[in-house]
Amino acid sequence: EGAPDKLNEALLRMAASFAVSDAKMREIIDRFHQSMRDGLNGDEAGMPMIPSFIDRRPTGNEQGKFLSLDLGGTNLRVCQVTLLGKSDFHMVQQKFTIPAEAKERTLFDWIAQCVSIFVEEHDVEPNPGEYSINCGFTFSFPINQTGLAEGNLIMWNKGFLVPNSVGRDVVRLTQDAFLRKHLRVRIVAILNDTVGALMTSCYSNPDSQLGIIFGTGTNACYWERLSNIGKWAGPKEGEMVINTEWGAFDNAIEVLPYTMHDNKLNRKSPNHGLQVFEKMISGMYLGEVARNALLYLVDQRLLFDGRSSPIFNKSYAFDTAYMSEIVSDDSPDLTEVRKVFEQTLEIPSPTLLDCKVAKAVCDMIGTRAMRLSAASMAAVLLWRPEMLKGTVTVGIDGSMYQFYPSFDKALYDNCRPFLGDDFVDNKLKLRLAKDGSGVGAAIIAAVASKHL
Ligand code: ADP
Repeated sequence: EGAPDKLNEALLRMAASFAVSDAKMREIIDRFHQSMRDGLNGDEAGMPMIPSFIDRRPTGNEQGKFLSLDLGGTNLRVCQVTLLGKSDFHMVQQKFTIPAEAKERTLFDWIAQCVSIFVEEHDVEPNPGEYSINCGFTFSFPINQTGLAEGNLIMWNKGFLVPNSVGRDVVRLTQDAFLRKHLRVRIVAILNDTVGALMTSCYSNPDSQLGIIFGTGTNACYWERLSNIGKWAGPKEGEMVINTEWGAFDNAIEVLPYTMHDNKLNRKSPNHGLQVFEKMISGMYLGEVARNALLYLVDQRLLFDGRSSPIFNKSYAFDTAYMSEIVSDDSPDLTEVRKVFEQTLEIPSPTLLDCKVAKAVCDMIGTRAMRLSAASMAAVLLWRPEMLKGTVTVGIDGSMYQFYPSFDKALYDNCRPFLGDDFVDNKLKLRLAKDGSGVGAAIIAAVASKHL
């Protein structure tokens, strides 16, 4: 009774709503520049554009042993990094899952406990002639940084709620917990995970200009001229890494092509109205946008014969990792796609047409994410045209970049209209900055403690 026509029509409309034209990308790039300019000048309408206090590029010759801590949403990683110079390093790490009690109460003492276990198990000693072990701290929560090793917590997120910590210096809180345990570990730098990716990239490629995370969330940092940072009160000579917090780009949704499925996610999320760009791009959210879009078709009885499942009805039940599996399935009968829906998500008997439709929907949302990612990367590169004269390395970390099919190729290709074929083919080098948080923190600790 004309169902295929109705389905085709619905899919065409959906494809149009998720499409991002080159003209739209250009508009996004222009607005990105305005937002960067506002942020650098301290105007709240812009992106945060947070100075990192890192004003010296690593050379790749840094040497010595350093500790690094990486506090993310679910794990604390403690690493000992041995920088060997000549861009070479060696790393030992241990992962500790953060218990609920630490998230809600005892975080800093719990961190000290983990560091103490690590230091003992791995016989970590200070570098010769030094009293303490120098440590870099990658901290993935918003802080108001006031120095290389000083930053006041703005707020918690990701389910953390440690009492008496908002507004206080998290380095001090951690350092005090170390003292209570008589740990000879001194935190010499606090940094964002994007900064870790950029430093790791700089250690092997001195021409690195950008560090990007495409993981649970998305964010980037880059080298900016101090004279461009209007809100910076210090000396104006030289450069500093700026943490853009680009996940917060266009929170007012003035240029981003938000669809009804994005609006639904945004409205139901605890950080409604915040990180709206991140919600179109990153691993934490893409699966949920896709789930919303698929259920929209189910509700019109255009997919899965109008049937969902208790599992698929749950918010965030459709992990972005499933999208990777689905879009990479090129088998004629879409075996993997069927497996995800029938076995994992318990949707009753999906047909081949269902699988094709679901794959097409995932493709639309993944493709949009890659185009927007490319637009933001191109925007930052174009912001400093003098950078584009030579080769430029971009250090990138995160599961989306590593595992979403063709993410790397799409970043290159979608930049072409804005950066030119010659630049993309011959000068742009996108590189995985693996374990960037751990290694980058050690590099900063080395630079900070002048182990050159
Ligand atoms: P983080 O950003 O927290 O350091 P990751 O870079 O590993 O950690 O990102 C985790 C996010 O990546 C999760 O939101 C997860 O859904 C998503 N993810 C994990 N595996 C894949 C995959 N194969 N394809 C796409 N996304 C993935």
